[in-house]
Amino acid sequence: MRCDLLEAMGHDAAECLYVGKVMLESGEPAESFRAVRAKRTLFIRGTKDTGQRICPTCGVRIIAPLGKEHLMACDLSPDLLIYGEPEGRLILAGAVFRRLKTRRWRDIVFKPLPVREVPADGLPAKLSLYTRRCRLKSQ
Ligand SMILES: [Zn+2]
Repeated sequence: MRCDLLEAMGHDAAECLYVGKVMLESGEPAESFRAVRAKRTLFIRGTKDTGQRICPTCGVRIIAPLGKEHLMACDLSPDLLIYGEPEGRLILAGAVFRRLKTRRWRDIVFKPLPVREVPADGLPAKLSLYTRRCRLKSQ
C-alpha cells in the first residue's frame, strides 16, 4: 500500500492493520510502499445465491459475491474501522472512509457499499473465514 494512503488512515491503521516493509529486488526497502494485512477479515456479500466453497488445503471459506455487493452489519464493530477481505481489498468504515474519500487519490477508487442486517445471497448472516481448524495455524 502507498504510504500516503496509510498515513491518511492515521491511528486506525495502527489498530486495524499489520504493517511491514516491502523489499525491492535490490534488497533495499521500498520507501513509499508498505505491506499491509488487516487484523480482521470479513466477506463482501452479494445479492444472488452463489453457494460457497471450502479450500481443501487450508480450510478457508471461499464465496464469490454476484449481483449488488453489500456488507453485513454483524461483521462490523464500532471500534474497528478497517477490515480485509479474502481477495485482498481493504474495507474502510465510518470516519476513516469519510476522511479518505473526501480527498482526491490518484489511481485509487473508493466504492461505497451498503450495509445490510439480512444477507441477500442465501448464506448465513455470520460467515467465519475458517470453517475448520487451519492446518497451518495448528502446527
Ligand atoms: Zn487454501
